[in-house]
Amino acid sequence: MNDWLSHRARASPDATALVSAETGEQWDYAALDADVSTLTERLAGLGLGADDHVGMLLSTRVAAVRLVHATMRLGATLVPLNTRLTSSELAGQVETADLTTVVCGAETEQLAVEAVESTDATDPVPIASLDDPQWERVASLAAADAVDVTPTEWTDDDPLVLLFTSGTTGDPKAVVLTYGNIFTSAVASAFRLGVLPGDRWLVPLSLYHMGGLAPLYRSALYGTTVVLRGEFDPGATADDIGTYDVTGVSLVPTMLKRMLDSRGTLSDSLRVVLLGGAPAPESLVTRCRDYHVPVCPTYGMTETASQISTANPEEAAEYVGTVGRPLFSTDVSVVDEDGNPVETGEIGEFVVSGPTVSPGYYDDPEATAAAFGERGLHTGDMGFRDDGGRLYVLNRKDDRIITGGENVDPGEVVDALREHPGVDDAAVVGLPDEEWGERVAALVVATDTNLTAEDVEAFCRERLAGYKLPRLVRFADELPRTASGTVERIAVREALTAPEQ
Ligand code: ATP
Ligand code: MG
Repeated sequence: MNDWLSHRARASPDATALVSAETGEQWDYAALDADVSTLTERLAGLGLGADDHVGMLLSTRVAAVRLVHATMRLGATLVPLNTRLTSSELAGQVETADLTTVVCGAETEQLAVEAVESTDATDPVPIASLDDPQWERVASLAAADAVDVTPTEWTDDDPLVLLFTSGTTGDPKAVVLTYGNIFTSAVASAFRLGVLPGDRWLVPLSLYHMGGLAPLYRSALYGTTVVLRGEFDPGATADDIGTYDVTGVSLVPTMLKRMLDSRGTLSDSLRVVLLGGAPAPESLVTRCRDYHVPVCPTYGMTETASQISTANPEEAAEYVGTVGRPLFSTDVSVVDEDGNPVETGEIGEFVVSGPTVSPGYYDDPEATAAAFGERGLHTGDMGFRDDGGRLYVLNRKDDRIITGGENVDPGEVVDALREHPGVDDAAVVGLPDEEWGERVAALVVATDTNLTAEDVEAFCRERLAGYKLPRLVRFADELPRTASGTVERIAVREALTAPEQ
C-alpha cells in the first residue's frame, strides 16, 4: 500500500506533520491523516474518484495541504492552479486540463466562479469550496453522503498531478507528472539533501509550482515536518526559521535576498537553503557564504517533477555559480545544435532524462514531440559542465541575443550590471534593430536614485566588449517576475519599448 501519509500515521502518529507559521497551530501525523480521511470521504461523496481531474485554486494554507493528500488517497489527479492568474487565463487552464471540478476556498471562490463562467462549456465545471461545509455550490453533484474510501494503490505510470509550467516562454503548458515521477523525485532529493528524521522544512513558495508542492510529498514520504508560510513577508519568513527550528527551506533567489536585507542573516538551525527557479546571483551566494547561510543553488523544472534535478549542498559555497551535479535519478547531457554531446567546458543545451522526467504535456502531442526526444527532454536551457561534473546554467536558448552576428549571453550583461553598487537588479533582452538585427537593452532596478543611463553604460563599457553593451537602459521599481521567480521577459520587453512618460 503506497499511501504515504497513512503509513506515517501508523508508524509515527505523534510526530509533527504540519505547522502553520501564521498561527503556530500544529498537526501530528495522526491528526493530519484523520483530517485528510474526512476530506477524502467528502470528495468521494461528491462522486469524485480515480478518473477525475481536481483543480486546486487555493492560497497556501493548511486546507490546501489536506487537499493535496486527499486527492492522492482518492486516486484522482490533482491540478494545482495559479491564484495570481486572471479569470480568463484560468478558464483556459480549466479547459486545457479537462478539469472535472474546481476546489476553492472563501478567498478564491469569486475567482473560481468567474473562471468557470468564462469557459466555453455548456455544462460549467462544478466548484466546491472547502469553506462551505454543505458543498452548496456543488449540490447538484453531491449524490451521496460521506462514503468509505479505500486508499488507492498507485502504480508508476498513473498521473498523480497535472502541473502548469510558469509560462516564462509562452503560455503555461500542462505537464503530466506520474506517481513514479513524483516518488522518484522525492526519494532522490531526500537522498541528496540528506533528509533526517526531525527535519522541519519551511514552505513559503506557492503550491502551484514544484518548489512548493514537492516538499509536501517528500515530507509525507519521510515523516518530516512541513512549516507552512502562506503570506510571504521577508522579515516574518526569516523569523519563522528561528521560531520553528527550521532545518531546510526552498526559496527563489529574490525571496532570499529580501530576507537577508531584512534580517541580515538567518537562524543557524538551517542545514540547507535551496535556491531554484531562476539564476542565483553570485553576489547572493557569496553573501550567504560570508554569513554562514548554507545556500545551495539548484536547477530543475516542472517537467522533471522538481525544482531540484541538480544540487550539491557541500560544494555550493566553494564553486560559486554552479547548480551542482545531477541527482542520481537524473541524467543531464549537454548537446550541440545537432544533438551531439559537447566537450567538457563547452556550452550546449541541457537534455535531461531519467525516471523523474514527465511522459509529456497533457493532451498535446505536438508540444510533447517538440520537447521530448529520444535522448530525453530538450530543456531549452543553455550551459556547460566543468571537469568535476558540476553544471552551470547560462541562459535559455531563446534568450540569446544576436547583434551584428555576435552572440550575447544576457546573463553576462546582467552580472556586469549587478556589480554596480547602485544597481539592485537588472534584466537584459534583445530588441529588434534594423541595422544590427537585435540590440542589447537593459531594465535596471537602481538603489541609487541619481543613477543615469549614461552612468550605467559607462560602467559596463569598462567590463564588456562593445557589442555586448546595453544600447538602451531604462529604470524600474522592480522586475516583473513569475511566481516561481523567473523574470517575465515579455513584460521586460514591454517596459523597454513602451513610450516614455
Ligand atoms: P515555461 O516552460 O512555461 O516557459 P518555465 O520554464 O519558467 O516556464 P518552470 O518549469 O517553472 O517553468 O521553470 C523551469 C525553468 O526555470 C528551467 O527550465 C530554467 O530555464 C529555469 N531555471 C531553473 N533553475 C534555474 C537556475 N538555477 N538557473 C537558471 N535558470 C533556472
Ligand atoms: Mg519551461
